Amino acid sequence: MTPICANLQAVRGRIAAACAACGRDPGGVTLLAVSKTWPADRLREAAAAGQPAFGENYVQEAVAKMDALLDLSLEWHFIGPLQSNKTRAVAERFAWVHSVERLKTAERLSAQRPAILPPLQVCLQVNVSGEASKSGCAPDDAVDLARAVAALPGLRLRGLMAIPEPTDDRALLRSRFALLRGLRDGIAGRGLNLDTLSMGMSDDLEIAIAEGATLVRVGTAIFGERPRGATPP
Ligand SMILES: *Cc1c(COP(=O)(O)O)cnc(C)c1O
Repeated sequence: MTPICANLQAVRGRIAAACAACGRDPGGVTLLAVSKTWPADRLREAAAAGQPAFGENYVQEAVAKMDALLDLSLEWHFIGPLQSNKTRAVAERFAWVHSVERLKTAERLSAQRPAILPPLQVCLQVNVSGEASKSGCAPDDAVDLARAVAALPGLRLRGLMAIPEPTDDRALLRSRFALLRGLRDGIAGRGLNLDTLSMGMSDDLEIAIAEGATLVRVGTAIFGERPRGATPP
């Protein structure tokens, strides 16, 4: 068994245990393998071990890997900061985007989504850490943004995503995930069907699952520590 295969099994085991601990069905949690900075052959190894969905942060790097892995049928998720001059490649090549935080970006993605493809599935990134973070829309703006994004023809709004600021305070972290969950419930209560809560990474997926994560984004625990000098998220 390769290290990546063993790591994937371990992560799947953690997800199953976390679900069991809070009475959830493990089938309700999708594992996204975050493969930023890793070369295509590592992704191929993960795919051979049964992993179909990959998360990438940098558009050019991701597109090169997609081209190298065209023989596989993989699902690509864009999870990094989205610059407006990169939206076309994202709209053309990815199945999902987790990091939409402004209507303007969503409108570009919708307009640039090729008509022959199904709508691009999107999560709105919400800043759940207040002053400590600059990424994501303010929680107070999430409802209006969700309404506007849900109306765009090239997109399908699936849910909310957050990256809480790192902290050793588990209770604080849990409260950040709970905030995202509460926002999702509030928006869903206004008639928008949001089925996805994208939250939880290598260090905190158990806490995120306890707070209702339906998709966890896991890099290090699958592929190992990223190469030094790799750009942080
Ligand atoms: C890098 C990254 C991850 C994975 O983080 P790990 O701690 O390596 O599991 C998850 N989500 C986003 C948005 C990232 O940029």
